[in-house]
Order: sequence, then C-alpha cells, then structure tokens
Amino acid sequence: MSKLPVYSIVAPIYNEFENLPVLYQRVRAVMESTGEAWELLLIDDGSTDGSTDCIRELAAGDRRIRPVIFARNFGHQIAVTAGLDYSRGKAIVIIDADLQDPPEVMLDLFAKWKEGNEVVYAVRAEREGESLFKKLSASLFYRLIFRITDVKIPLDTGDFRLIDRKVVDIINSMRERHRFLRGMSAWVGFKQIGVEYKRSARFAGETKYPFRKMLRLAVNAITGFSYFPLQLATYFGFISAGISILAIPVVIVLRVVGSQQLTGQATTLIAVLFLGGVQLISLGVLGEYIGRLYDEAKGRPLYVVRQAPDK
Ligand code: UDP
Ligand code: MG
Repeated sequence: MSKLPVYSIVAPIYNEFENLPVLYQRVRAVMESTGEAWELLLIDDGSTDGSTDCIRELAAGDRRIRPVIFARNFGHQIAVTAGLDYSRGKAIVIIDADLQDPPEVMLDLFAKWKEGNEVVYAVRAEREGESLFKKLSASLFYRLIFRITDVKIPLDTGDFRLIDRKVVDIINSMRERHRFLRGMSAWVGFKQIGVEYKRSARFAGETKYPFRKMLRLAVNAITGFSYFPLQLATYFGFISAGISILAIPVVIVLRVVGSQQLTGQATTLIAVLFLGGVQLISLGVLGEYIGRLYDEAKGRPLYVVRQAPDK
C-alpha cells in the first residue's frame, strides 16, 4: 500500500489530447518542487479524440496518475465530482486540463492552505485569449449569480481552487445532480480566501463550453441556489393585479365623461398577449424546477465509469 498523498490534483478531460502531455509535465514539475506525496486524477469525460489512450499511457508511466474513465460524456461538473470522489489527498486542487489555469499558481494555493484556509479559490484578475463575448457574458453571469443567490459565491472565480479534505468530504455527501461546484464549495462555509491569478489562453484546442453549455451552467447555478425565478411570478402577479385594480376606476371615470380613451381591440390584445407571455414564462420557470425534482427523484448515479482506480 503506497503512502496516501498530501495533494490530489483533479483535472476533467474532454478531448484534450494535445494538452495532456504538457499538463502532466507542468503539474509534475510543480508538484515535485513541493517535496510532498501527490496524485493526479485524470477524469476522461467521454473523449473521442484519443485522450483516453493518452491518459492510460501516462498512467502506465507514472503510478501517481490515477485515471477515471467515464462510459460517456457526463459534463464538466460531473467529471470534477468524480475526481473529488476518488481523491485521497488532504488538499484537493481542481484544475482545467487546457492549461488556462497555470499549474504554477497551485503553489500560491498551497501556501494559503498551510495558513489554515480550507477553501482557496483562484480569482481571475485577467483573462487572456478569450473573446469579448465570453468575457462579458462571464462577468455578467458572476454578478447576476452573486445578486440573486442565497450563497455569496465569489466574483470572477471558476472551479480552479484548492479544497481541504474536510470540505471535500461534505461536498461528496451532497449528491445533487445539477451541480454548480463553486456554489457548493461556498455553501459549505469554513475559512475561504481568494488568490488572484492571470488566466492564460488555452494551450491547444477549442473551448468545450459552447454558449448552450454556459447557459445550462448558469441555469443550474441559479436554480441550485435560489428560488428567485419562482418568486418572480408572484411579484409579477401582484404588480399586474395592482395595475388592473387601479385601472378599473380610471376606465369608469373615462366612460362617464364620454372619453374614447382606452377602448378598442388593440389595448385588449396587448394586455392579453403580455399576460399570456408572462404566464408561459412562469410555467417554463416552474418546469425547470419540476424537471430538476424529477431528476433527483429518479436517483440515478451521477456518472458511470468504465475504468476507475481503487478508492
Ligand atoms: N470539460 C469536460 N467535459 C465537458 C466539457 C469540458 O470535462 O463536457 C473539461 C475540459 O476538458 C476542460 C475543462 O472542462 O479541462 C474546462 O473546459 P473548457 O476549457 O472548454 O471551458 P472554458 O475554459 O472555455 O470555459
Ligand atoms: Mg478552458
């Protein structure tokens, strides 16, 4: 039985063939400089570009690499979850496989952890090589989440972070399926601190987060941590009921004095369409929550593995 590692590094991988060897080299260089025992969990999230074989080869050459191979693509947050499940270290770092999160920054995270912080999240002070749209939408997303959720999720932080074993054990016991790990790790509490870093451009390949997936993540973040969208329907209901109550005496007075204001089909049509729209949106919001309830009720496993290391 080998010695349990102090550090676990978790990297989710979806078609990152070109990045894998460099990721391994840079992580190894950084980790060897710490002089502590470590392990690197490479989670293959259903890659189709040969990343799977590459992970197996790397693992054959270095026993500190522990591969988890999924049966199909389950998504980034689920891949990270599997990494946390299989990790054995005292401190766990989540890092992107595309080298946007420079492995060297891990040393700063370790330093803050040694000072007694249980979650050390990396704050993106600068972002390189990303489109204006991505930067703007990300910035808007973080601020919206911050405003409407009940948990104060730090601004401009991704999943790149160090989490203490205590906190990881708690996150691992939270088996919700629509996961937003930054929110979950903020929810746990304990001592949390940020470290600024410069987010690099992707080393190779394209983003695996198209707009559709970003939107899903945003909806998961909001529904996972807030009832605000549900409450919106109530607010709208009160506002439109209030307006119509005020409108009744106004219309009566207008009729009595013989005015032609506020008559005709157009006004009616606009009011009906507006309310119909609001009702359909509210139904959709309800549907989002009900769909999530249904998913939870089914109780399926979060992921299916083809190959996994011993725990
Ligand atoms: N990823 C994953 N499964 C997915 C999508 C992405 O495991 O379905 C991984 C991906 O390989 C990368 C990390 O999640 O290591 C972040 O993805 P990406 O760099 O594409 O996102 P971005 O940095 O563009 O937001
Ligand atoms: Mg990336």
